[in-house]
This record gives sequence, C-alpha cells and structure tokens, in this order.
Amino acid sequence: MSFDEDARITLDALSAFADHARRRDGKVVNQPPAHRLMSDLDVARLIAEGGLDGERLRQFLATYLGASTRLLDPRYMAHQVAVPSPQSALAALVDSFTNNAMAIYEMGPAAATVEMGVLDWMLGKIGWPADPAAHGQAADARSREGGGGVLTHGGSLANLTALLAARARVAPRAWDEGTPSNLVILCSPANHYSIARAAGIMGLGQRSVKYVPADDCGRIDVARLPAFLDAIVREGLLPMALVANACSTALGLYDPLRDIAAVCRDRGVWLHVDGAHGAAALVSPRLRHLLDGVELADSLIWDAHKMLRSSTLCAAVLVRDHRTLDHAFREEASYLFHDKDQPGFDFIHRTVECTKAAIGLKVFFALAHEGERAVAAMIERQTALAKEAARYFREQPGMEVAVEPETNIVCFRFDGPDDVQIELRRRLLEHGEFYISTAEALGKRWLRIALMNPATELADIEALVAQLDRLRADIAAT
Ligand SMILES: *Cc1c(COP(=O)(O)O)cnc(C)c1O
Repeated sequence: MSFDEDARITLDALSAFADHARRRDGKVVNQPPAHRLMSDLDVARLIAEGGLDGERLRQFLATYLGASTRLLDPRYMAHQVAVPSPQSALAALVDSFTNNAMAIYEMGPAAATVEMGVLDWMLGKIGWPADPAAHGQAADARSREGGGGVLTHGGSLANLTALLAARARVAPRAWDEGTPSNLVILCSPANHYSIARAAGIMGLGQRSVKYVPADDCGRIDVARLPAFLDAIVREGLLPMALVANACSTALGLYDPLRDIAAVCRDRGVWLHVDGAHGAAALVSPRLRHLLDGVELADSLIWDAHKMLRSSTLCAAVLVRDHRTLDHAFREEASYLFHDKDQPGFDFIHRTVECTKAAIGLKVFFALAHEGERAVAAMIERQTALAKEAARYFREQPGMEVAVEPETNIVCFRFDGPDDVQIELRRRLLEHGEFYISTAEALGKRWLRIALMNPATELADIEALVAQLDRLRADIAAT
C-alpha cells in the first residue's frame, strides 16, 4: 500500500472522528481498560510482524480513535488543552515529514525563521522590542537592547527555563559552582506545580518555595508584599524570582501585575509571569487589561497549545532582555557570537532540548489561517461564555460558584461535602457524555469547566447541569 493511499485512509478516519465529535454523537471520553485496549489494538503483534497499512490501518485507526478523547466535541470542557485548529495539525504533519530539528539554524532554516517570527509577534504583544540576535545582528547582539525568547515543549519546561535565566542574574556563578543554598522562589499559593518542580530540578528543594501573602483566592496581596520581602531578606535568604500568575490554574485569576512589578523593581527582584494559559488575553485589545503592567516583568511564559489553538506542545519563554536568556544555560555566553558568517540564529543555547521540533509552525498555522483577530474573537467569546455559565450556575438552587470568572475557567459545586463533588464527576465520566475536571480552592473541592472548545454553547452547559442533577438524585437514592 502506498503512502498516499494510507494518508487518504488516515484522513478519512480523522474526518469521521471529527464529524461525530462535532455533532455530539457518541462519548466525549471513553476509557476501556488498558489491558483490553492493548489486545484490541494488537500492539505487540504489529510491532513484531508489521503490516499496519491498508485495511489493517483502517481497522487500527477505528479502534484507536474509538478510545481517543474527543476534544472536538463541544461537551469537552475539561483540561486547558487547545481544541486545535485543523490547520495546526497540518503543520504537525509538515514538521514530522521534514523532521527539521531546528535548534540549530542549519537543521531547519525555515522552521527557525517561523519560530523567530512567532516570538517577535509575542514580544510585540507584551510591548517588548524584537530580539536583535534573531534579526541578523548576532555579531553585536550583546550590545543591543531587545527582548528575547525561545519556544519549548510545554509550559513546565518554559517555567524552568525562565527561572534558570532568573538564577543566572541573581547568582551568575551558579551554572559553574551550583545553586547557592539561600536562594528562594517566591510565588502565590495558587501557583502551578511546575514552579515547585523547577525548584526541585534546580536542587533548591521544596523548602525554597516561599508563598507570598495572598487573598483567599490565591491572588497576591501587594499591600503586604514589601514587608514580606523585607522579612525574607532579614532571614538571609536571596529571592531568585517572584512568580505571578496570569492566570492561576484552578480559578483562572490574574495577579495585579503592575503593582507587583513596582514592588519587584524597587527591590531588584526578578518578576516572572506564569502566563501559560492567560497570556493569550494579550491578543485581545478588550482583555489585555487583565495583564496590565506585564511589560514591567522580566520574563513571561505563554503556552500556544492552550488558548492559541495550536496542537500540543508549543510554549514560549519570553524575556525583556534577550541577554538574560543567553545566560540561562551558560555562565559565559560570548561563544555564541563567533566570527563565522551566521545566516540565522541558533536557539540551542536557550533550551533544555537538543533535538527540537519545529513547534513554531503549529502555532503559526493556527494564527495564520484566519489571522490574529479571529483568535482574539475566540478568546473573547470563551470568556463571555464563562461569565454566562457562572450566572446560570448561580441561578440554580443548591449550586455555588467559587469566583466571578476572569477567563474561560469556572469552578462550581453543589450543596454537600467534597466527596459528593468527586463522586459526581466520577459518575459523569463513566457515562462519558460530558468531560469536566475538578480543582481545590478556597479550602473546598470544586467541579471545574475550562471552556476550550469554540463550539461549546450555553445549551451544552445547561445539559451538563441537567445530567449532574440526575446523577445527584441517583447518589441521594443510594
Ligand atoms: C498549564 C500551566 C502550566 C504548565 O504548562 P504545560 O504546558 O502543561 O507544561 C504552568 N502554569 C500554568 C499557570 C498553567 O496553566
């Protein structure tokens, strides 16, 4: 069977998959036991004997897609993973086909250039100037002002990378001599776990993660910040960075960046903004105010595979001064600018990864198909829908909403203990017609929807509540 024929079989299978999902036909989530799937998919035999083409491929894809979670179904409201634009999937195909591992320019000139273009666009949205090193000015880039960036395989890696850049500024010898034991990372108690994980990876230990004063929702309380920083310094600790959320994972709330930045600047503390989910509001003139003051930060991360409709994984690390990122993985960065005629820019100095996919192409295809205004309109729509959903939940007897949503995330719960919320979600997923997540916040367990799918409507949310009501009645009856 030729590649072209198999490609047609694959495309047909994907079209049918998308079609059913978009029509809400079947389950959003279907979890057969893994041991059964292993034999249904015939994994071991196919590896040993081959033959995955033609009719066999068609059968395999039917089984595979039957046990694949349908993000394209409008009743998908669970995790903060994009329902990618189909064009983004085409980019993934081009990337896989060409396999240009573009961390060095010569291994993928077009891929590296698209990455630069995407980073430039993001820097522009923040209000930081373009990266001189990425614009044919590598030879004297060190003396030039400008932002900088790199795309990584995910936000967790992006947070680690940004924190390494912060460490290089606070403790320039750390790369050669190890991390000083008095370094601490300051963050909101509502931070994403990848911050604590970065502390572990950097050898700092979890006790180096210090929670700054915050309100009940985990939003940083700026009024109490200066005294907190003074106390940290009095203890002999050295703040490596303060991490603010834009937005937080559980509740989707933004920290007041401008006020936090003022305190950080005053004390020379590196401000890192975790905008994995919420930085996308920068694309919308109507929502940009949520990140007011972000341009005063030192670094920002931004996942394109959350709100920019890129397929996984594609995250950006962005810094106000490009030189800081060049030191993240090297104390002395001068070797970057050798005499050799450099037609482009090598990103390899800025990443954990050595072999790196052309991930910029995926977000580029997602943006370039309809243009950035369409993405902005999508983000605005999803945010407005979240507010409508919150209003609807509040109107239902026995239902409560955690906070007024600032983004496309809503946490809600029914009267009753935490166990009931968890049991409700378990039963909901067993039925498989709706897919939602849960979160802990304000000392309670919540049911949580992240409205990632641009086709989700208020009617889907009403149908979700109706099904939860039926499940609640079942639970009460047992
Ligand atoms: C999703 C998220 C991350 C982690 O990003 P991944 O791409 O999943 O690794 C980090 N921080 C915040 C605030 C997030 O929402």
